[in-house]
Amino acid sequence: MNPRQNVRGFTYGGDVRDPSAAEEPGTAEEPGTAEEPGAVRAAVQPLRPLPFPLVGWPDLRDLVRAQAPLLSAPPVEGRGLCAVCRGPAASGSPRCFPCDLHLQCAQGSLADVVVPVAFAVKGGPHARHLWQYKSARLPVGTRAARAAMLRALLLVFLRDHGTCVWRAAGIAGPTHLTVVPTARGRPGVHPLRELVQEYLAVPWAELSARPGGEQVRDLDAELSARPGGEQVRDLDPDRFSAGRLPGARVLVIDDTWTTGSSAQSAAMALRRSGASAVATVVLGRHVGRADAAAAGLGPTAMPFRPRSCAVHNDDVAARRP
Ligand SMILES: [Zn+2]
Ligand SMILES: [Zn+2]
Repeated sequence: MNPRQNVRGFTYGGDVRDPSAAEEPGTAEEPGTAEEPGAVRAAVQPLRPLPFPLVGWPDLRDLVRAQAPLLSAPPVEGRGLCAVCRGPAASGSPRCFPCDLHLQCAQGSLADVVVPVAFAVKGGPHARHLWQYKSARLPVGTRAARAAMLRALLLVFLRDHGTCVWRAAGIAGPTHLTVVPTARGRPGVHPLRELVQEYLAVPWAELSARPGGEQVRDLDAELSARPGGEQVRDLDPDRFSAGRLPGARVLVIDDTWTTGSSAQSAAMALRRSGASAVATVVLGRHVGRADAAAAGLGPTAMPFRPRSCAVHNDDVAARRP
């Protein structure tokens, strides 16, 4: 068992090890090779499911680099993007229509900050991966490959930009982690939680869907990522419930943000349970093709840059005296 490691206020456990940490025989990582050689290796090798156990951060970074050219992500000062979720904003508004509506209905109860790791443009590779990793209709190997990519993306993002997220939420770091409950009575652990729970050693806050409130949730992410699939759900403070969480600072992770109603309903439930702060990180901010084209989203115009995130710009920081 590897020791837990605290990286910038957030604790990682399981088999994700810091390259600078003590190595175990036979799994030595090469110090100083985490950057460029990895990029070359990832570019020339097809993606495969990660071997178990994971061999460390350099391998996770390789997986991120391999998918980075396909990804588009919101820059910190993205013009025309929603100030809340970074999707395309409504014309003349600082926010998109659903976020505007949420704010009117529930200001003060929503997440303190929402940080999408990347855009998930309908029909594009990231949107496809976000439903494929949990689709029971696909072969196990395909699901595992998608899961490995998304796991790497989330873990590396939290490691590199967790502090940006906490800072934007006005907190020192989360005390709890949670996922937005999945739907349709799917048994077992939430697929996103299953993806990362071995690697994030933070207590989980249990959110559960109230009867009748969860039925469309999974459909939401899966269908909306496919051509022709549309779902609009309303903000509902009663959709989810959580145990008592007095003073908790909760990191909500979710795979796909479509209207944000589910994630914001989850934030409301967490606050009702006593949470003092809620920060939401989503793997994909879903955007329709036409909206993406109109807003100029895409890997060329808004590339995914591993050193920046939606709430911090490495380039801007570097220019400061
Ligand atoms: Zn928005
Ligand atoms: Zn950042």
